Amino acid sequence: MGDIVIVGGGFAGLEAARALSNKRSKLGARRIIVIDAKETFDFLPVLPDVCGSFVPKGHVTLDLAVYLEKLKVNFENDEVVRIDTDRREVLLKNGGILSFEFLIVSCGTATNFYGDTEAERRALKLDTADDALVLLNTVTTYPSKKILIVGGGYTGIEIASSLAAFLRKRRIKKYSVNIIEKAEDILGPLPQWVKDYCRINLCALRVNIYADSSIKGLTDGRAKLSCGTEFEDYLLIWAAGVWTPRFVRDMKFEKDGQGRLAVDRSLNFFDGCFAIGDAACFKYKGRTLRMAVQFSIAEADVAARNILRIIAGKKRLAKYRPMDYGLLVPMANKKACGKILFFNVRGIVGWILHYAMCIYRSISANNKFGIFGDLLARLFR
Ligand SMILES: Cc1cc2nc3c(=O)[nH]c(=O)nc-3n(C[C@H](O)[C@H](O)[C@H](O)COP(=O)(O)OP(=O)(O)OC[C@H]3O[C@@H](n4cnc5c(N)ncnc54)[C@H](O)[C@@H]3O)c2cc1C
Repeated sequence: MGDIVIVGGGFAGLEAARALSNKRSKLGARRIIVIDAKETFDFLPVLPDVCGSFVPKGHVTLDLAVYLEKLKVNFENDEVVRIDTDRREVLLKNGGILSFEFLIVSCGTATNFYGDTEAERRALKLDTADDALVLLNTVTTYPSKKILIVGGGYTGIEIASSLAAFLRKRRIKKYSVNIIEKAEDILGPLPQWVKDYCRINLCALRVNIYADSSIKGLTDGRAKLSCGTEFEDYLLIWAAGVWTPRFVRDMKFEKDGQGRLAVDRSLNFFDGCFAIGDAACFKYKGRTLRMAVQFSIAEADVAARNILRIIAGKKRLAKYRPMDYGLLVPMANKKACGKILFFNVRGIVGWILHYAMCIYRSISANNKFGIFGDLLARLFR
């Protein structure tokens, strides 16, 4: 009998730990161990608000050691560098080795610079709450307010709107926030009306969109775009894509272009090994499930249930049937748009719904009340 090792204490990993901990009596002597490179769980959907100083960092972070101790789950604060599924071992950066009987890979994804070392050296990114604070401090202290955001997906748009709203709030007149998007339009596969709504709203915030453009050259003082436009004294933020951490990409199993592990309907990729959340590539009705909190949490419950079924000697594993509640693109001027269930939602209603989801999904009372207070303050400001 071995341990249940969960790599990553994000939405998926913590939900799996909670679900398994609730059924502790069925686990026998097995320990549940969560490994995370960070000391905190960071609530990613609210990070753009931290960048714009609308929400303090303390409202979006949760101390993993304290939370997991309450669940009676072991916590290993270290980075996983390799997983040997044949020897059933997880190798840590500090040299430690953890053996497992069951494994859940829930390490999410991080910014992908696509091998552009120059951009990686110069650009800010938004993977963690600490990154959000670095971004806010840099924008506040850097004399030039010429901001280039590479990537016109959700993250790029949310960062752009937050920074533009922040600079307005600080009464800085001469700012320029620019989104550089390689494709012909922002927001990839989303419906045209959502793209149009976001474009109009970003325009109201004085955010410029350079579609069909990419970074052609970067030097200390100058950034050149493929469309010919040049920026001097710029601040670069990279939000052009994500991929899984190196140890996942190095695994011998099938992966998609972002290095997400291909899983079957039971979220299994190898004997007793499951992948969930952003680290998993789950195909349903011919399409790969997008990265979202709702799927990460639902997948965690299925993986935990399947581990319990294997322990109980059951042959058939539970299958994951995704239920999509919809998506919203929130922007800092109290507007959002998207689809919730079958309804198109836009404006302040969508914006409030987004934060209602964030409050509901937050884990601690401190985070829930904190985000609720920030929402009220912004509504009545
Ligand atoms: C800016 C932003 C805004 C978003 N907005 C929304 C939204 O509005 N709605 C929505 O549904 N989704 C949103 N998402 C996506 C959502 O946050 C993810 O789908 C969700 O966080 C995935 O959960 P996860 O547990 O798989 O990964 P994560 O939450 O990313 O957690 C992964 C954990 O693994 C740890 N880890 C990584 N590598 C290692 C390693 N080598 N060793 C040890 N630990 C490791 C990390 O430290 C992290 O704690 C947003 C994402 C971002 C970045």
